[in-house]
Amino acid sequence: MNADTDPHPESRAAQALGWIDDATRAISPPIHVSSTFLRDADNGYSSGRVYMRDQNPAFDQAEALLTSLEGGHETLLFASGMAAATAVFQALQPGDHVLAPKVMYWSLRNWLHGFATSWGLEVELIDMTDAAAVRAAIRPTTKLVWAETPANPLWSITDIAATAEIAHAAGALLAVDSTTATPVLSQPLALGADIVMHSATKYLNGHSDLTAGTLTVGADSEQWQRVRAVRAQIGGTLGSLESWLLLRGMRTVYLRVRAASASAQRIAEHFAGHRHLSAVLYPGLPGSPGHEIAARQMPGGFGGMLSIRVTGGPDAAVAVAAHTRLWKRATSLGGVESLIEHRASIEGEGTPVPADLLRLSTGIEHSDDLIADLEQALDAAHA
Ligand code: PLP
Repeated sequence: MNADTDPHPESRAAQALGWIDDATRAISPPIHVSSTFLRDADNGYSSGRVYMRDQNPAFDQAEALLTSLEGGHETLLFASGMAAATAVFQALQPGDHVLAPKVMYWSLRNWLHGFATSWGLEVELIDMTDAAAVRAAIRPTTKLVWAETPANPLWSITDIAATAEIAHAAGALLAVDSTTATPVLSQPLALGADIVMHSATKYLNGHSDLTAGTLTVGADSEQWQRVRAVRAQIGGTLGSLESWLLLRGMRTVYLRVRAASASAQRIAEHFAGHRHLSAVLYPGLPGSPGHEIAARQMPGGFGGMLSIRVTGGPDAAVAVAAHTRLWKRATSLGGVESLIEHRASIEGEGTPVPADLLRLSTGIEHSDDLIADLEQALDAAHA
């Protein structure tokens, strides 16, 4: 049996591919902290390791597990999702044209505008949910199409297979931020993407106790080798303890993501049409934009993230968040505890996010409790 592919992904995750530490027979891996490794008398490095920055032994099992779950060729861990995402852009050349979505993780959008452009990248933000708009925006110099699906915080859906076809016809790569979907619900590489990225701070770890990022590639290429070099040379790499915690988190990712997704579906259905809401944004609601595409490319569920738009405007939205007890007011997502956030406050000027929107990250608490808490907060804010 091949431990990387044969058992179901749930089994591979639970046992982290079943690796056993050679030295101690430990089932949970040791944590190495040495920043350097002994050179052999003949001047070689028989251990295969020279220096910790990009050769930390703590990366190996977490990277191998995610490669297996994503069905990829190789995974690289980074110190954060931003470190992972920006490495893909930093590996491009001045003059290269990239397409990215108007609706996407705001900090990456800001970095693309503030830094990537000053390094000579031509960045164009488009409606990535519209395949015709993607096709029309392609230029001879387009080298990368960046998609995020479902996209933060409107949860708009990009058709990965259609977008991959357009990118590849132009000789460009497609990279997908799959943080919200996770490998539990979506397999971007199998749908044609070249690189899949995660903020592993979120669902992969799942416990809100580290920041981490990952890139998984479908096949080796010159461009991927440049991404590897960016990580090795710029050094935005993960520490030993964080790598260990991430591996521990990934062991339960199937249980956590399925529970959060089922709960979010129930919450979205419960609040759709609610008297204090003008909209519930969730791709799992039939009739919502992109629902059919999401159903195809996320067959196991629509994820744990949804947003609500509160009647009464931004002040009413902030008041709802102020009245929640179980939902915690905090940024981030993908942890076992449910979070609520007024997104416009954090994204600031120029955000495409409506000012009356609250983003909900559904955790694994009982959905009855989450619904009851939100009901009382909506009532209190509208009293
Ligand atoms: N991508 C998405 C969809 C995110 O939600 C985030 C963080 O919120 C990031 C990327 C950036 O990840 P990190 O905070 O780990 O740098």
